[in-house]
Amino acid sequence: MPSPALRRPENIAGDLYVDDTCIDCDTCRWMAPDTFDRAGEKSRVHRQPRTPAELQRALMALVACPTASIGAAEHHDMKPVLAAFPDRLADLAGQPAADGAAPGPQGVYHCGYHHEDSFGATSYLVVRPAGNVLVDSPRFAAPLVKRIEALGGVRTLFLTHQDDVADQDKWHKHFGCERVLHAADVHAATRDVERKIEGDAPVRLDDELTVIPTPGHTAGSACLLLGDQFLFTGDHLAWSERRGQIVGFRDACWYDWGQLVESTRKLLSRRFTWILPGHGRRCHFPPEEMARQMQRCVEWMEGAA
Ligand code: SF4
Repeated sequence: MPSPALRRPENIAGDLYVDDTCIDCDTCRWMAPDTFDRAGEKSRVHRQPRTPAELQRALMALVACPTASIGAAEHHDMKPVLAAFPDRLADLAGQPAADGAAPGPQGVYHCGYHHEDSFGATSYLVVRPAGNVLVDSPRFAAPLVKRIEALGGVRTLFLTHQDDVADQDKWHKHFGCERVLHAADVHAATRDVERKIEGDAPVRLDDELTVIPTPGHTAGSACLLLGDQFLFTGDHLAWSERRGQIVGFRDACWYDWGQLVESTRKLLSRRFTWILPGHGRRCHFPPEEMARQMQRCVEWMEGAA
C-alpha cells in the first residue's frame, strides 16, 4: 500500500502522490503524463488532475503501478477505473482507438496491472477470432482476469524473453493457454512451457502470428509480429522520448549488443506500423515512416556499438 509517510517531497501538494517505493519503471509517466513526471531517480506528481479524463488516466496509472507506489489522499470510486483495463489501443487493422478504431472488442489492448517481478514491464492482450493472445505476463489480478474472461480468455501466452514472465504459470493454469518462449530463455520457472522456439529462423504460429527470434537483449529474446501491423518487441526495441527515435537498450543489453543490432537489421524487411514494447514507449507510424524510423534506428545502433 502507498504510504503518506513515504510521500516524496518532490510531489506537488494535493490529492495524488508518489511514495518513495517507486522503482522508476516509467509506467505512470507514459500513461498519465499530465499528472506524472520524473524528478531525481523516481516519479512524482507534477500537477494534480484538472479534468475527469485526467483523473481517470492518473487513477489507471495508480492501478497499473507494479509497486503500489501511487497514493490518493481522497476517496475515489475505483469501479470505472478497474473496468477500464484492459485498455484498447487499436483495432486489428492498426487504427488507434483514439482515432476512431472499428467498434470492439477485437483489437490490441494494454493489460495494465504491471508486475514488480517483471520490473513493471507492459503486457498486451490481442482479441481476435483466431484465438486471443497474451503478450508477456501482467499481474494475475482478479479484476483483470474477469475482464479477459469476458473478452474470450487466452489461447496463447507469448513470452518475449526470460525477464517478463512473472505470473505466467497462473495465467496458464487458469486459461489453459499454450505458452511460447524461445528455448534459449527457458529457465527453471518456465521449463514446462508448452512450445519452445529453437534457432534464429522465424516461426509461424498461425496465419497471423509470426515469432521472430531477435537475440541480443537476451539470448532468447523474440518479437511477435501480428499481421502486418503490430510488432511486440519485449525489451528488444522501443521508442525513446529523449532521443525522438526507436532505440535498443544499450545500457540494458544482457547478452550481446552486436547480435541485437543484427536482429534489428533482420526486421527491416518486415512491414508493421506499431512497436509495442515491454519497457520504453510504444510508437505508431504509417508503414513508410516506420520503415524510415527503423533504418534510422539501425544506423544509430551501429554508431552506438
Ligand atoms: S508506475 Fe509506480 S513504480 Fe513505475 S514509475 Fe510510476 S510510481 Fe514508479
